[in-house]
Formats: sequence, C-alpha cells, structure tokens
Amino acid sequence: MLEISNINAYHGRVQALWDVSLRIEEAEIIALVGANGAGKTTLLNTISGLLRPASGRIRFLGERIDGLTPHAIAELGIAHIPEGRRLFPIMSVRENLEMGAYPNEAWKKKEKTLEHVFAVFPQLKERAGQLARTLSGGEQQMLAMGRGMMSRPKLCMIDEPSSGLAPKLVLEVFKVVKSLREQGITVLLIEQNVQHTLQIADRAYVLENGRIVSEGKSSELLKDDHIKKAYLGL
Ligand code: ATP
Repeated sequence: MLEISNINAYHGRVQALWDVSLRIEEAEIIALVGANGAGKTTLLNTISGLLRPASGRIRFLGERIDGLTPHAIAELGIAHIPEGRRLFPIMSVRENLEMGAYPNEAWKKKEKTLEHVFAVFPQLKERAGQLARTLSGGEQQMLAMGRGMMSRPKLCMIDEPSSGLAPKLVLEVFKVVKSLREQGITVLLIEQNVQHTLQIADRAYVLENGRIVSEGKSSELLKDDHIKKAYLGL
C-alpha cells in the first residue's frame, strides 16, 4: 500500500531522516518505535506532504506522492492524526468532525460516516454541540480519531494517541486503533507505550537518530534484547 524508498529529509540545515525505507501492506497495523527526537513525527509529516523530502520516493497505492500537496495526499486516502490532537477548540464536536470530511468523496458520505463515528464513540454523540476545548483529554483524543475517520481513509497515521491520558483511557485508545483495522483501515502508529503497541501491531520499524535500525514482526521484536532494554525497560 505504502512504499517509502531512501528518504532523506531536513529541518533547515539539520538532517532528520537518513535513507529511510519502509513498506506497509494493506490492512496491517505498523508501529514506528523510537525515542524522543528520533524522527518519527518528521516521517509522518513527510508522508502527509507537510515536509518535502530532499531525496527519495514515496508511493501510495502505486502512485508517487512525494511532491504532492498535503491536500492532494489527503484526497488519495491518507489521514494524519497529529500529535497534540490539533482540534479546532472553539468549534463544536460535530463541526470538528465535519471538518474531517474534507476529501470530496468523504464529503458526499459525511452524514453516514458521522453516524458510524458516533456509534464508535457514543460520548461524542452526547457532546455533539459542545465546544471541543471543553472536552476532557480522553474525549479530545477520541474526537481527533473520529475526525480522522471522517475522511474515510485507506491509511490512517496516528501520532502518540495515548499521550497524556490516564491508563484506563490508554487501553480505550488501543482498542480503537485495533477497531480501525477491523474496518479495513491500514494503520501507521507512533506510540511511546511500546509494550502495548507491539502487542497490537503486526510489524514494527525502529527509528534511532533518523535511521531505521531494525524492523520485523512485533512478536519477534518483543523478544529482542535491544528492544527490551531500550524501549521496554526490561
Ligand atoms: P518526539 O517523540 O519527541 O515527538 P520524534 O521521534 O517524533 O520525537 P521529530 O519530532 O521528528 O522526532 O524530530 C526529529 C529531529 O528533528 C529532532 O532532532 C528535532 O529536534 C528536529 N526537529 C523537529 N522538528 C523541527 C523543526 N520544525 N525545526 C528544526 N528541527 C526540528
């Protein structure tokens, strides 16, 4: 579904990604694991077109997307649920969700998708008229994920969804991520909670200092000594 080949990307003069290559097959959950500053968010921004790579290629469903605008990339079916949620705070829950339906095809089906999102997140239905800024942290994360679902994506990239949430809500977030795959949505997930992430992901890539240093099935990475020591605190 997504093929990234030899991407190099910079923030100004600082190189943040070095020769990064990665593949995602349809209906997989892929985790991107790495310490703070490893380049995970930079990679998502590069895929969604917010940052242009200096070299390398990105193909999505056979089409080259590096160089396209973020809007064009979203139209092709890639949703980016950013770190920090980035909601529209003085818009209502419903308005935030409707903003997610910006791709043309999604806009036509927005009432139907809204019903589906409300079925997945009943709390959002109860609070449909409430301003987004008045929601709890957990509800805000649900709204960010619901907004991503409103674009009817084929690939959903989620950056640190459990950040700042109470442990009980963290489990809820992981359940929702799993349910996305059950709906046929492929997921690229960044998470600090590496243990949980590797338990739900099919495969993972480990990014250190802007380079992919290992990759493999999650079940195997969970047994890997370096992963255990560096990311699982074992
Ligand atoms: P975190 O988990 O802390 O979000 P990350 O793995 O997502 O980390 P990035 O945010 O992609 O890492 O950062 C990768 C590197 O690029 C870091 O060294 C960071 O300081 C640098 N960087 C990120 N954004 C910018 C920017 N806008 N301008 C300059 N440097 C940046």
